Amino acid sequence: MKVITRFAPSPTGYLHIGGLRTALFSYLWAKKNRGAFRLRIEDTDQKREVEGATKHLIHLLHRLGLKPDGDILVQSQRSAAGIYRKQAHELVARGHAYHCYCTPERLEKLRIQHERRKQPSRYDGTCRSLAPDSIREHEQKGTPYVIRLKIPDTTELIEAKDGIHGTVRFDAATLTDAILLKSDGFPTYHLASVVDDHEQHVTHVIRGEEWLPSLPLHTLLYDYFKYQTPQFYHLPLILNPDRSKLSKRQGHVSVEWYLEQGYLKEALINYVAFLGWNPGDDREIFSLAELIKNFELEQINKAGAVFSKDKLDWYNAWYVKNTLAPKPPKELARTLEPFLPEHTDERRIGVFNLFFERIRNLRELAELSGFLRELPDYEPSLLIFKKSTTEKTSSGLAAAERYFHAEAEPWTAITLELGLKKITEEHGLSFGDVFWPVRVALSGLAASPSPTDLAAYLGKKETVVRIGRAVKMLERAE
Ligand code: GLU
Repeated sequence: MKVITRFAPSPTGYLHIGGLRTALFSYLWAKKNRGAFRLRIEDTDQKREVEGATKHLIHLLHRLGLKPDGDILVQSQRSAAGIYRKQAHELVARGHAYHCYCTPERLEKLRIQHERRKQPSRYDGTCRSLAPDSIREHEQKGTPYVIRLKIPDTTELIEAKDGIHGTVRFDAATLTDAILLKSDGFPTYHLASVVDDHEQHVTHVIRGEEWLPSLPLHTLLYDYFKYQTPQFYHLPLILNPDRSKLSKRQGHVSVEWYLEQGYLKEALINYVAFLGWNPGDDREIFSLAELIKNFELEQINKAGAVFSKDKLDWYNAWYVKNTLAPKPPKELARTLEPFLPEHTDERRIGVFNLFFERIRNLRELAELSGFLRELPDYEPSLLIFKKSTTEKTSSGLAAAERYFHAEAEPWTAITLELGLKKITEEHGLSFGDVFWPVRVALSGLAASPSPTDLAAYLGKKETVVRIGRAVKMLERAE
């Protein structure tokens, strides 16, 4: 049997971290089994439809490396072709569904009643057994109707199997006769999703746990349609650190936001894979190819998975150091471009080399490197290392200024470091009298990359100007 999985998002304009996990797990399982990963756009709720969202989503999946196989199925197109309507009427003909003519006003009243009595909102079944005469009458009048699923009148529990949750049992008495086809002829999620999972030959339905309550309805639909039921895997909820359901209120939830901040796709994918899955040992770093090899649906946990931004930061820092930094210059510069738009490629790489070991995301590069373009104001006292004196610092800076001014060797961090060391010794000074004030003079900051890395990046002219400025500041302060 060829394994077929699917990702079935509703195009709401952005991809939720939970959506990425569903897509990733579905992709991994399909690829691991040399099967197919299909994409289906669930866009029949036209109120929620966002213009351009589908195109954006497809582009994003490609960018993340989760390329869907085969044709993309778009539900609004299938709806327009009458496919779901036909299926809904088929169920009516077989006695598993019925026309419901109740007005929205009546249903609203019913809802309020239930709310007052603190009961779950259920359809009361008024149209379930309408007399043929009254159905004919409605038909003649053209009363608008919806089609509802007939939940069986049984005291037996409805059983469904889930690969993560085991056998789940639902009491039919708690289920409502769900709407399958709306009065505008559009299908609801339940109908469209079952019809299409069948149409796309899906063997493994992998989706978030929030869909588990829909499982009994889907199980009934599979039975009524006489479709082969796929295997279900409802992935554990993704939680905020306080264990509430992951939401915008406590942090960012869209994949696009993380990409815009300069989180690498490799880091996002590696981290998101661990939201509910782990390899069973202490390995943490997995490329997409390694995930495909190691991923097992059987290893998915039931317990909610906490989304930790700190852990994602850790992953991103790892991928920046170990996969981005060694990239060929052209490729590196291309990745950096959106984060340092005003620089040349060479300068971008220069900035990256100064900071890549300490950043969590690429967006931080612009902020961290602001002082390279414009020296911030700083107090002259910052120039003096805690074990040094004004006098020693002044002579250290003056010696460094002369040295930089005269330096004729290639202007590289290594030569400059040797040069500064030499003058430190020659003047009987310590590193704190020379390297510290030079670093502050070049950055204006209490913490920054090394003075010789900074000097190499700034170039001779700017280095001499900045040191000269520090020398004058100290003179004035004395
Ligand atoms: N359209 C649903 C969603 O946005 C899909 C649920 C499913 O995978 O069946 O999550």
